[in-house]
Amino acid sequence: MKIALFSCKPYDRDYFSAAFANSDYQLDFFTAACDEQSAAIAANYSAICVFVNDRLNADVLRVLAAGKTRYIALRCAGYNNLDIAVAKQLGFKCARVPDYSPAAVAEHVLALLLTLYRSTHKAYNRVREGNFSLFGLQGQEIRGKTVGIIGTGKIGRVTAEIFHGFGCQLLGYDIAPDHAWAQSLGLRYCEQSTLYQQSDIISLHCPLTADNHHMIDAQALKQMKPGVTLINTSRGGLLDTDAAYQALKERHLGFLAIDVYEEEGNLFFEDLSTDIIMDDLFMRLTTFPNVLITGHQGFFTEHALINIARTTRDNIVAMQSDSACAGLIY
Ligand code: NAD
Repeated sequence: MKIALFSCKPYDRDYFSAAFANSDYQLDFFTAACDEQSAAIAANYSAICVFVNDRLNADVLRVLAAGKTRYIALRCAGYNNLDIAVAKQLGFKCARVPDYSPAAVAEHVLALLLTLYRSTHKAYNRVREGNFSLFGLQGQEIRGKTVGIIGTGKIGRVTAEIFHGFGCQLLGYDIAPDHAWAQSLGLRYCEQSTLYQQSDIISLHCPLTADNHHMIDAQALKQMKPGVTLINTSRGGLLDTDAAYQALKERHLGFLAIDVYEEEGNLFFEDLSTDIIMDDLFMRLTTFPNVLITGHQGFFTEHALINIARTTRDNIVAMQSDSACAGLIY
């Protein structure tokens, strides 16, 4: 069977080639993102493999169906970029990688937070230049803070466990709470508004769905403590970036760390260092000393890449042979 992989980087080629070695599958790697223009590339490929910013809307799915593609393997956990209703209607089988390494993203939350709180990025440059002044490097401690976790699934749990180790009080909000787990960790589930009002640090770990777009908007931000720290490693659309920008200017939002951005499809995963970046809001955010942005790299560890490629292979085998697999989306 032939598989067309979209949005491929050299590391995708390496890890997927290794995972599919000695198999009968033919992998063809395309750098193009899957969208209305490029979807025709997949004509006569039984399966496609896509990533977080590939578009699987109704128009794209129709092109894929016309080209006789039957299986869609997302090499990521989130699937907000897939129009499930249309995919079902057109008879696609779709799978994702639900559990490749929750620790990869959870640990990135701490990497972002510790960088913001201790200015290690600034210290690194200063020391290399022989500047040992501590001016501007005064930090914040994590111990003793109240941390609110929104979405206590796989990644939210590992994040909560890490914060527990740091000596934090834990609050949680989830539409399907797991009280036994929460009790074992001392996490207290509460309403979203209580979490906003009482947390010093808020970390988002729920999926982006049709119901929670801009979950963190101006109104939500207003309910939060002055000086609150907000971390989004989940999906950009959960945060109204413009509202966050206003809250930063009003000095209400104390720190913002994001690994995802609602317009990231135009920016992330590419080297744009010689281009003129047209997204003024994004570029303005990069000028704030209390904002840290990474380009959707939470997943990007060796352990996670091995698991993503192997699970995607197993998903495709399972979809093709009509057997059960944990990654099936419906
Ligand atoms: P998961 O399915 O294990 O957990 C999600 C949790 O969110 C579940 O407990 C669910 O009940 C809860 N939830 C759903 N809707 C909610 C809502 N409106 N409010 C509160 N809680 C809600 O998923 P996971 O593996 O923990 O991943 C979480 C998200 O992290 C993914 O959906 C994806 O968007 C994101 N992610 C980001 C990266 C990255 O590289 N930055 C990598 C992997 C996943």
